[in-house]
Amino acid sequence: MNIILLGPPGAGKGTQARNLVDTRDMIQLSTGDMLREAKDSGTEMGKIVADVMARGELVTDEIVIGLIREKLEGDKQGGFIFDGFPRTLAQADALATLLAECGESLDAVVEMQVDDDALVDRITGRYTCGNCGEVYHKTTKPEAVDGTCDKCGAQDMKHRADDNEESLRTRLMEYYKKTSPLIGYYYAKGQLKSVDGLGEIAEVQSAIAGALDG
Ligand SMILES: [Zn+2]
Repeated sequence: MNIILLGPPGAGKGTQARNLVDTRDMIQLSTGDMLREAKDSGTEMGKIVADVMARGELVTDEIVIGLIREKLEGDKQGGFIFDGFPRTLAQADALATLLAECGESLDAVVEMQVDDDALVDRITGRYTCGNCGEVYHKTTKPEAVDGTCDKCGAQDMKHRADDNEESLRTRLMEYYKKTSPLIGYYYAKGQLKSVDGLGEIAEVQSAIAGALDG
């Protein structure tokens, strides 16, 4: 089974991909990982990637497709999870052509849907105790005494720097701008399965399993 996992930053896509790797023996193909791996591999494609990176140029769609081709021609295990590719319609077409050439098909495109405001609240409301690492949330799990850790009593709450609302909203906007054409594209092909991405990890996990097996 080959699938694409779509979801905005912070939706928990990585967690769900790792779960599919563990439970279904699937292979996660993340563009960043493939490029890093190729650079050190010494294969034909790897040399091209290392070259392009050394010259400070952008990695083209052809290169990414070439790397995916190498993976498709190798051990398939339980199938592939495409993560971070395709991002554009041209890439989606190129991936469809490649899969057909390799005798593979795309079985589902799972879109993890999240409500922006809920996602922003979930991510920006999170903070941890700098002493013991206990995780808090301003609305769902606040500490009993303001600024004091329930568990260890330290007064050292840490908010993640990249958790600020503005940067998250910018990343969400980028995602929707780039990805919404893909949602229409795969919907039209009858391959789109949308799941609610805002529940507990286990709930989202079973929603994805239902979408893949149903
Ligand atoms: Zn603590």
